[in-house]
Amino acid sequence: MKVLVTGGLGFIGSHTVVELLEKDYDVIVIDNLYNSELAVKDKIKQITGKEVKVYTDDLLDKQAVDKIFVENDIDEVIHFAGYKAVGESVRKPLMYYHNNLMSTINLLEVMKEHNVKKFVFSSSATIYGDPGNPKYVETMGRGKTTSPYGTTKCMIEQILEDLYVSDNEWSISLLRYFNPIGAHESGLIGEKPNGIPNNLMPYILKVASGELEILNIFGNDYNTPDGTCIRDYIHVVDLAKGHVCALDKLENSASGVYVYNLGSGKGYSVLEIVNTFERVNGVKVNHQIAPRRAGDLAEFFADPTKALNELKWKTEKTLEDMCRDSWNFMKKEIE
Ligand code: NAD
Ligand code: UDP
Repeated sequence: MKVLVTGGLGFIGSHTVVELLEKDYDVIVIDNLYNSELAVKDKIKQITGKEVKVYTDDLLDKQAVDKIFVENDIDEVIHFAGYKAVGESVRKPLMYYHNNLMSTINLLEVMKEHNVKKFVFSSSATIYGDPGNPKYVETMGRGKTTSPYGTTKCMIEQILEDLYVSDNEWSISLLRYFNPIGAHESGLIGEKPNGIPNNLMPYILKVASGELEILNIFGNDYNTPDGTCIRDYIHVVDLAKGHVCALDKLENSASGVYVYNLGSGKGYSVLEIVNTFERVNGVKVNHQIAPRRAGDLAEFFADPTKALNELKWKTEKTLEDMCRDSWNFMKKEIE
């Protein structure tokens, strides 16, 4: 099978490309390098021994996307490309709506023209909003989002559902990720945020490496056992494997829109993450308690039962693995 992976040089995309190559898929990548670098292509080759064809075009350039479909006999698409910084999306909503929505619409239009109708989409747990129960299950549906970023995910899910209604030859998988962290165990690929990170693990890494002085823990007065927020962290390699299972499902099932949570089902607090990181890596993470961050929920985690039953997928890696592999990648970066 020939898979087009959009955003395939980014954090989750690159790990998924590795897993696809290891399952003998032919992989083609489109990534405009907005938040990645071409060197990742060579790192993927170092890990897998296999070559990936990379187009550095922008999905907003519909002609360029069409050319990729003309030049390659693509069977299916995994769509990771998009902007993903929640805070930035609040400051620059038009930029987020433009890139995330228009690139997806261009891609779907070109797919339709070429009669390619198998599509896996990177959605997010953020689409649940605040459903009042911390254990998120797919039947809850989409809630009220708190950022333009989250709204783009809801809108794209809706677009894909509408597309299926209009033409039920489409096979679509909406994968709702929880909190991806970790890195490939080789330490060759991982997450490389530009500037000051917003997310917890990238911030911890920059404090541990000395690049940033101190981690602010946003609130210790939540209604959780240690007062800090609880999230469902998932190792990026487990997440990548979930995509291979989702493709397999689309290849072997009736057409339709399939929705899955990809999470572990277990939540960890911010302090548990910091303490585990320090323990497994033997490094100090300076931290202090700071005021709550606007929009944060005290706790949420996945109900991963549906993915287990239908995709035969579950997370295998531990929090220790996530902390060790994240630091291993960072150490190689700063060497
Ligand atoms: P990432 O930024 O590392 O990867 C996205 C890639 O898309 C980048 O390499 C970027 O250069 C590329 N890209 C962006 N706009 C493009 C365009 N117009 N044309 C071509 N390429 C473009 O992000 P990631 O963490 O790997 O996330 C992948 C997907 O998963 C995103 O859609 C993101 O919203 C979603 N997601 C991520 C998380 C997370 O915490 N990382 C959580 C839930 C959902
Ligand atoms: N967090 C924190 N300090 C930081 C970044 C994040 O205390 O510098 C907390 C944040 O309040 C949340 C958790 O870590 O409870 C995970 O935050 P992240 O932004 O990584 O993910 P999300 O908010 O999307 O779940």
